[in-house]
Amino acid sequence: KIRVRYAPSPTGLLHIGNARTALFNYLYARHHGGDFIIRIEDTDRKRHVADGERSQLDNLRWLGIDWDESPETHDNYRQSERLPLYQTYIDELLTSGKAYKSYKTEEEIAADREAQEAKGLPPVYISEYAGLTESEIADYMAQREADGIVPTVRIKVPEGSIYKWHDIVKGDIEFEGKNIGGDWVIQKRDGYPTYNFAVVVDDHDMQISHVIRGDDHIANTPKQLMIYEALGWDVPEFGHMTLIINSETGKKLSKRDTNTLQFIEDYRKKGYLPEAVFNFIALLGWNPGGEEEIFSQAQLIALFDENRLSKSPAAFDQKKLDWLDNDYIKHADLDKIFEMAKPFLAAAGRLDDKSKHLVELYQPQLKSVDEIVPLTDLFYAEFPSLSDAAKEVLETETAPIVIKAFKEKLEGLADADYVKDNIFPLIKAVQKETGIKGKNLFMPIRIAVSGEMHGPELPDTIYLLGKEKAVKHLAQFIK
Ligand code: GLU
Repeated sequence: KIRVRYAPSPTGLLHIGNARTALFNYLYARHHGGDFIIRIEDTDRKRHVADGERSQLDNLRWLGIDWDESPETHDNYRQSERLPLYQTYIDELLTSGKAYKSYKTEEEIAADREAQEAKGLPPVYISEYAGLTESEIADYMAQREADGIVPTVRIKVPEGSIYKWHDIVKGDIEFEGKNIGGDWVIQKRDGYPTYNFAVVVDDHDMQISHVIRGDDHIANTPKQLMIYEALGWDVPEFGHMTLIINSETGKKLSKRDTNTLQFIEDYRKKGYLPEAVFNFIALLGWNPGGEEEIFSQAQLIALFDENRLSKSPAAFDQKKLDWLDNDYIKHADLDKIFEMAKPFLAAAGRLDDKSKHLVELYQPQLKSVDEIVPLTDLFYAEFPSLSDAAKEVLETETAPIVIKAFKEKLEGLADADYVKDNIFPLIKAVQKETGIKGKNLFMPIRIAVSGEMHGPELPDTIYLLGKEKAVKHLAQFIK
């Protein structure tokens, strides 16, 4: 049975790169009718962030991702709760002689490394037991124990070993054991396993069939294969997805790239639609072929094909995300977008009886729902200073005539009749009266009421401004 997992370390907010790993595992599981598992890798106590787990899971749920097994429903799905299990296998490896306790202090290890670097050699861990007899080893260990030195446990890299696998994304990969850097730590001095050890125990224990993750883990895979081999376990399939680069810089996407939003929480806060973000992430390093770019979650599940995971880096393009989000917003129900817009408008002190009408007007333009606030400046902020082009329009001979006539008509409209449908007839009446039409008619009115040359339909704009404000604005331009 296909069983895949997403194994976040709760070290901060959910980043787009990790969200992509989760999303592809999710698509893979759902496409094949397999299981999707969430396991929390919290053995690095120094990098632990309070609330990291909850916020990661919340963000995944926001994206529309669900799972079959997780710490919420299953016991011992956090690595910190699995220490006895790791200990069992550490003991097994110690007993079989495939691993050993290493009493070298950090200072001694650093001194070895410096000596190697001085000779221009790559830093490789040198076993303290090399060339010692069994009784010498026993004496050394006893001495170190007596000195109160806490050991780590290291696994021995077998001589002449070669680790290879057929990567779902990258194809055949081969790695020589001698390049691993010497015997490596599987259990730290604090009793916690290292990542490369724990991940294997867990993937085996949870019967993971496919490990799909970022290619920053490629160098870890040989070490993990070593553990599978040492414990005599079947090896899952591996697939390492290419990194995500910033489409503008061409470099690895970095948290310092200010032209991009990279945390799922950012999208959520700015009012992106989760369906759009899901769609966007699904196309980071994967596509179903063809020109189409808009896909529902159900379509993505149906279309997902791991063999189409890209071998070249995925370009993160903020503009594409905005384009996609705009498309989703445009096609969404007004009620839904209005609900999303409410908190933004409320925070700006702009939530009132016109809000829904405003959201309706601007919905086709929104790239994220928070943009509703700057877009409604026209109706709430101070009258803007005019651009040169706007000033030019107002300086034409006919502009004052139009403005004056329109102001009179508007003032003549009873408050009870101040509805949108009654506004266009007033403009038409001005045209009839003055003989001025087209741009010469509409533009001076638009500029005088709103200060801008662009905006929603003129009757909407005038209606939404309210009679009092519209008249006041028009009056500024009458000498
Ligand atoms: N905890 C690891 C990470 O956050 C997961 C690595 C894996 O998938 O094997 O990168």
